[in-house]
Amino acid sequence: MSEVEGRRVGVLALQGDVDEHTAALRRAGASPRTVKTPADLADVDALVIPGGESTTVMKLLDRAGLAAPIVWRVRAGMPLWGTCMGMIVAAREIVGVDQPSLGLIDIAVRRNAFGRQNDSAELELDIDALGSTPFPGIFIRAPWIERCGPAVELLAERDGRGVMVREGNVLVTSFHPELTADLRVHRYFLDMTGSEAGNTSTAA
Ligand code: GLN
Repeated sequence: MSEVEGRRVGVLALQGDVDEHTAALRRAGASPRTVKTPADLADVDALVIPGGESTTVMKLLDRAGLAAPIVWRVRAGMPLWGTCMGMIVAAREIVGVDQPSLGLIDIAVRRNAFGRQNDSAELELDIDALGSTPFPGIFIRAPWIERCGPAVELLAERDGRGVMVREGNVLVTSFHPELTADLRVHRYFLDMTGSEAGNTSTAA
């Protein structure tokens, strides 16, 4: 049985592309489960915040009583991965708009920075942490990263802007690995759940 086999990974299921993430996590060997309540959250070892609409999800997080418990768990070391909307929700700062976020990773992001609603792009990304084969990056109204704190590790960029970064137990991607057949980012995240990285929060 591999390290990640059966790992209880939650996917925040208030809005967004939840099913694609649970399917990819299952293919990568984990035991995904949806998270809609604080009780669901208490039952997982790691959390994915999927793509979707960040203003809607911030409101739904508050209504579900999940915002504060997610912050506590992540500060206590629970691995978190935010894709696209999830990156915005996890960021310390959202530039240009007055919008709350959870402040779990020391980055400033700009929403919809790579294009409008109908603009999506699939681009090959060089991501050393995933090996030499380029990763198919699917961008849909994606945010970019304008500023990173000193402890943030840059893992991939597009047009000189960070699109995959990590700070300790928090990983964020502007693109959507769950919409491809390539499981390498899911496996990278599952590896985070199996190492000491998952027990040490460096996020402020
Ligand atoms: N544009 C969305 C937002 O700002 C994010 C898009 C996505 O998750 N694909 O919330």
